[in-house]
Amino acid sequence: MTALADLLREVRACQLCAAHLPLGPRPVVHVSATARLLIASQAPGTKVHQLGISFWDASGDRLRDWLGMEKSVFYDESQVAILPMGFCYPGRLEAGGDAPPRRECAPQWRDQLLAAMPAVRLTLLVGSYSLDYVARREGWAKASMTERVHDFRSYLPRHFPLPHPSWRTGVWERRNPWFVTDVLPALRLAVADAFAR
Ligand code: SF4
Repeated sequence: MTALADLLREVRACQLCAAHLPLGPRPVVHVSATARLLIASQAPGTKVHQLGISFWDASGDRLRDWLGMEKSVFYDESQVAILPMGFCYPGRLEAGGDAPPRRECAPQWRDQLLAAMPAVRLTLLVGSYSLDYVARREGWAKASMTERVHDFRSYLPRHFPLPHPSWRTGVWERRNPWFVTDVLPALRLAVADAFAR
C-alpha cells in the first residue's frame, strides 16, 4: 500500500465536519502520484456528490471546453488530479447558491495530499476559494479574481488562475473578452507544457 493510497483511505473515512454536511460526508477527489496537472476547484455540487465524479456537470463541460481537453484525458488520474478546497458537498446558502467549501477540509488534508503528488507541474486555481487560499499561503498581494486571471502570466509556471466555470461565468466572459482571446490560448499552452515537462 503506497503513502497516497493510505492517505486516500483516511480521507474517505473522514468525518471531521460531518455535523455540518446536509448530505453527509462523501469526499470526491481524483489524485495520483504521477499527475502533472492539478485542478484546485471549489466543492462538489449535489450531482457530483451523487455520482462521486468531479466536474461531471455543466461546469465541467465549460472547463473542458476552456482547456480543449477530452473527458478521456480529464478523467485520467495518472495525468490529471482534481482536488477541491472542500471534498464534500457543503449544502446551500440561505440566500441561494452552494455554501462555501468547508473551511476544515483544506487545512486538514491539502498539504498531505500535495506532498504525495510530487509530479504536479501546474495547478489551475479554479474560482475565488482556491485562489484566495493559495494567495494567503503564497503571500500574494490582494487582488480580485478578475485581476488575477488578467494577470495570469505573473503566476506561471506553477499556477494558473481561472474563474469558476459555472453558468454565471458566461456573463463574466462576455464582459471580459480578453479571457477568450488571450487567456485560453495561453492556458492550453501551459497545460501542454506541464504534460511535457
Ligand atoms: S469536507 Fe473534508 S473535512 Fe469535512 S468531512 Fe469531508 S473530507 Fe472531511
